[in-house]
Amino acid sequence: MAQLSLEHIYKTYPNGFEAVKDFNLDIKDKEFIIFVGPSGCGKSTVLRMIAGLEDITDGTLTIGDTICNDVEPKDRDIAMVFQNYALYPHMTVYENMAFALKIAKVDSKIIDEKVHEAAKMLDIEKLLDRKPKALSGGQRQRVAMGRAIVRNPKVFLMDEPLSNLDAKLRVQMRVVISKLHQKLGTTFIYVTHDQTEAMTLGTRIVVLKEGVVQQIDTPQNLYNKP
Ligand code: ADP
Ligand code: ADP
Repeated sequence: MAQLSLEHIYKTYPNGFEAVKDFNLDIKDKEFIIFVGPSGCGKSTVLRMIAGLEDITDGTLTIGDTICNDVEPKDRDIAMVFQNYALYPHMTVYENMAFALKIAKVDSKIIDEKVHEAAKMLDIEKLLDRKPKALSGGQRQRVAMGRAIVRNPKVFLMDEPLSNLDAKLRVQMRVVISKLHQKLGTTFIYVTHDQTEAMTLGTRIVVLKEGVVQQIDTPQNLYNKP
């Protein structure tokens, strides 16, 4: 059974623009799904609908056994990492990572364990007392990932997480993300317009064009096709 399923999903924005047309995809547990395609093809729109940040115009989104079209983002067992990090500037790295758990009234000892565990995984243990402005772009992105990891989401959404980084850091972070996927054993859905990221990270790649799915296949098969 699919862990996450999108059936005949459409998105029409209030101005009448049809951003996504008849999107169909079944995602199995632990897959690393990539949405790839040129700017404006609808990648973020699909991701945001999965996260619950954008209404679904038509079709059915199922996560586990639950139809999630009308489920609040916070009740979806999903975490999202954005391109611009969206860290709280007045909080330390530790507080940024702990924040969601604190809001959820998780015991502070457990919060402490989870934050340190995630920080270790991402190699940012030495940065816990810093504020975001004292971090490099790559470090900020790690903190943003750490903040998502501590919540143990079943599905991990990433929207162009590396596009603000320079080429060298992008290569480094690709390795970090790949290891993270293996270690966490959760499902990743990852938006990029970068072919290399798509081919090296994905277990399956969804190619979008003007809101329509062109191809869905493994990197291997896509590479071998003309
Ligand atoms: P991508 O992530 O592939 O770059 P998006 O999903 O962000 O593409 O956008 C898909 C299309 O929908 C684009 O043409 C974009 O301009 C349009 N779009 C995005 N948000 C809105 C909105 N709120 N209202 C109208 N059109 C939008
Ligand atoms: P509260 O404000 O609710 O009292 P804190 O955020 O001050 O809680 O701290 C909660 C727990 O997290 C404490 O066990 C504290 O020692 C630990 N902690 C806070 N900041 C750090 C940090 N930078 N590095 C390691 N542990 C920290």
